[in-house]
Amino acid sequence: MVKENKPRGSFAIVTVVLPGPDKKRTPAPYMFRVTYRNPDPHEAGCVMTWNVTGGREEYQIAAERAGDGHLNWHCTCPDAVYNGENRRAYCCKHIHGLQALMETIGSPVRRERAAA
Ligand SMILES: [Zn+2]
Repeated sequence: MVKENKPRGSFAIVTVVLPGPDKKRTPAPYMFRVTYRNPDPHEAGCVMTWNVTGGREEYQIAAERAGDGHLNWHCTCPDAVYNGENRRAYCCKHIHGLQALMETIGSPVRRERAAA
């Protein structure tokens, strides 16, 4: 078996402006960096993971494909952890920002170079 499509070493970093971590929620730039990408995005399981910096701490976001093809999103920030316990479909601002970004650039699994 010949493997020709090797995964690229460098992944895109995108900056998204979101409500900041301070009480006034002053818009602040958040950096999203892809840390993992499944070579087969249609397979059930983890599709992509991101590292988010710019907030109080560094967070991890994961997109997981369920058996029915639906994408489940996870974030490690306190907001997502706290609200996720009560509402399973809850999405924090990081996930919302990432989803909005993807709607803008199209399918992330087909366009590796989203950021200029
Ligand atoms: Zn979050």
